[in-house]
Amino acid sequence: MHLNVETLALVDGGQALVLALMLWFGTRNGSNHAVKGLRLRAVALLVEACGDFVLAFDDKLSALAVLLFGNTFNLTAQALTIVALRMVLNRSLRWREALLLGVTGWLGVVYFSTAHPDYRVRVLWGSCIFVCNSLLNISALWGGCRKRDTRAQCLLLWTYILAIALLAWRNVSLWTLTAPPQSIGVPSAVNVIYVLLFGLQPLLASVGFLLLYNEILQRDLYDLARIDPLTGVINRLGLLEASQSMLARARAKRESIGVLLIDADHFKSINDRFGHDDGDRVLLELVANIRRMLRTSDRVGRVGGEEFLVLSPSVKEADLLALAERIRSAVERTSFSISGQSYALTVSIGAAIADAGEPDMMAARRRADAALYQAKRAGRNRVMLAAP
Ligand code: GH3
Ligand code: MG
Ligand code: MG
Repeated sequence: MHLNVETLALVDGGQALVLALMLWFGTRNGSNHAVKGLRLRAVALLVEACGDFVLAFDDKLSALAVLLFGNTFNLTAQALTIVALRMVLNRSLRWREALLLGVTGWLGVVYFSTAHPDYRVRVLWGSCIFVCNSLLNISALWGGCRKRDTRAQCLLLWTYILAIALLAWRNVSLWTLTAPPQSIGVPSAVNVIYVLLFGLQPLLASVGFLLLYNEILQRDLYDLARIDPLTGVINRLGLLEASQSMLARARAKRESIGVLLIDADHFKSINDRFGHDDGDRVLLELVANIRRMLRTSDRVGRVGGEEFLVLSPSVKEADLLALAERIRSAVERTSFSISGQSYALTVSIGAAIADAGEPDMMAARRRADAALYQAKRAGRNRVMLAAP
């Protein structure tokens, strides 16, 4: 089969151009950082396409013009991709590093094409810059790749590792061949394989970007369904799931789970006196107070209004009561500042123990509710333990 480098470059450029247009017009309606990242990636693809077209029409330009224009487009596309990927992942953008690598890469190409022309050194230089750029991308993907549910990040990371491997093969070939090609336009096996495979990189990376975006959207939706937007703690659905998994673990260890139902006392009067916005701020401070008292294995969620549920695994009655008392007294001691004035808030807490044998947490939750009602009736600002 006869494959010509210019034809391959034309196909690569056409593919990058179509991908750029699809990505640009397919993301017109979004405005968050991930969408902005995708749009920047579209611009990078457009620039990359220009670089491919320079190589495709190299017979219309001087050899030096092909080198300088081709590499300018190529290096710019790489720098833009670094920033685009970090935008999608919501990481620090590293504009400066991307720019520095691009300029350094370009100066090296100019030097090894004019002052000290050497094709193999120039390729090695360009490859080193690409590896540095890829390492910046890999470092952005690496942290997330070790977490669960981040397959797209891992896939994208692997495309960069494979691209580095391809470049390593190309350089080794150029330095070990008895008659290496003297420019990228020469139709040698090394050049054809390199242009063919490297040309797939925009397609693979773009699919990776889209999968990544999909993964981020899915995670955002998952959180949106489970996190209370005001306080940042889990909501009823999150609590239901947390209680199910906690109960499954408790069954395996034959341990009980503590349940605390915490309700702010006379909260309505805060809203009436200071307004709803200040009431919201007090709720945030109240949640912070509760969280400070919890162990890492405990979970707190908002069941509604100014009522919170704490699930505390592997506790007995005495531990649970001690935890409830710590929360109650921490809130009592806190001076909540509202519009420059300090305000004393108290909470009433109903406590109950769920045995590992119970089918779900509903019964324990009802017992905690009844205990909370008793605490309110007994004068508020107190902890009541439910009868087993
Ligand atoms: P007590 O529990 O001690 O009986 O009195 P309370 O005034 O706290 O009683 P209740 O549960 O009847 O009222 C809760 C109030 O909490 C009603 C509502 O105005 C307020 N509230 C509920 N959700 C929010 C919220 O998201 N933000 C604010 N600012 N207020 C809320
Ligand atoms: Mg209340
Ligand atoms: Mg209430």
